[in-house]
Amino acid sequence: MVDTKTQYLQIKDEVDAAIHAVLDSAAYINGKAVQDFAAALAVYMGVKHVIPCANGTDALQIAMMAIGLEPGDEVITPSFTYIATTEVVALLRLKPVFVEVDPITFCMDPVLLEKAITPKTKAIVPVHLYGQAAPMEEILNIAKKHNFYVIEDNAQAIGCSYTFSDGTVKKTGTMGHIGATSFYPSKNLGAFGDGGALFTNDDALAHTLKTIANHGQEKRYYHDIVGCNSRLDSIQAAILNIKLKHLDRYNQARANVATFYNQAFENCAVITTPNTASYSTHVFHQYTILFDGDRDGLIAHLAAKGIPSMIYYPVPGHKQKMFASFSLPDTLLPTTDDLTNRVISLPIHTEMDTEQLTYITEAVLNFINK
Ligand SMILES: *Cc1c(COP(=O)(O)O)cnc(C)c1O
Repeated sequence: MVDTKTQYLQIKDEVDAAIHAVLDSAAYINGKAVQDFAAALAVYMGVKHVIPCANGTDALQIAMMAIGLEPGDEVITPSFTYIATTEVVALLRLKPVFVEVDPITFCMDPVLLEKAITPKTKAIVPVHLYGQAAPMEEILNIAKKHNFYVIEDNAQAIGCSYTFSDGTVKKTGTMGHIGATSFYPSKNLGAFGDGGALFTNDDALAHTLKTIANHGQEKRYYHDIVGCNSRLDSIQAAILNIKLKHLDRYNQARANVATFYNQAFENCAVITTPNTASYSTHVFHQYTILFDGDRDGLIAHLAAKGIPSMIYYPVPGHKQKMFASFSLPDTLLPTTDDLTNRVISLPIHTEMDTEQLTYITEAVLNFINK
């Protein structure tokens, strides 16, 4: 699905030098590389504060810990997302309330979001799934009206931009109170190990997030609030600082792959190619089509030709066993269930060439036309 090795070889000299600089400095924890990367990422994102942490799941958890919720408070999130988004809600003894997604963008449906609000609702977690933005203007308006926090799960969309109706453009992850992202190796900005970060424009929240990620301490060994231990290590930060310079080019390469696929499948009745909403750019973390045919057959056909494909995700949140203990009335999510049965993601990464793309698209079309 990805080719991180070839991507590394393209920037090997730069990356190796950055790693060696960290080794020479011996500042493995919270070294200069971490601060340099956080500062560079803040400029790239156009956000006031970047707080690095250990991974994207931690980022979501720390964000949720920072907004002062009580056990039983409700957090509205899509069911059609990676488990990390919803898992941290349950971990903190909050109640995930699963809301339906829009079948065109795969992101949270703002109309149904408003219907899911109860007196216990305290926060909304939109997910910018597969690389395009959730309808943030509507979501932010609803949140403002009801005084809810908005935590953006930006793990799949770093570099994506959102255009508001007044023409203002912002990066995904910087529009809500807090944004969370992941630097897992296969993400659009991937480390060579785990990593994550939080974004906020709010000084007080930034302070709280930083404190929580550092055992709840401001002064060493004086612990004011319950926190956790979540750090981005210096070597990963040094690597990410190199890769950040290439991020826009990487996202463009992904968009080019998507265009190739879109054109190849244009006249194919059983494939619905991904849509990009007018308010969003698309950074194609995944290239996900809807397939109205024998999906298992297609996956097996591709696998036999050495082509990987994936279902993101085979079981939506509201059907996961881990949430069985939460009472989830009215969580009938027909669109989520329908998408779960039809989605299939094809390989997409920054190093794909025309030969690979031709091979893959021909294999897909051969299966359909056989
Ligand atoms: C990858 C991902 C995460 C979690 O990131 P990790 O760094 O793996 O913990 C959270 N949400 C979404 C939507 C993701 O894709």
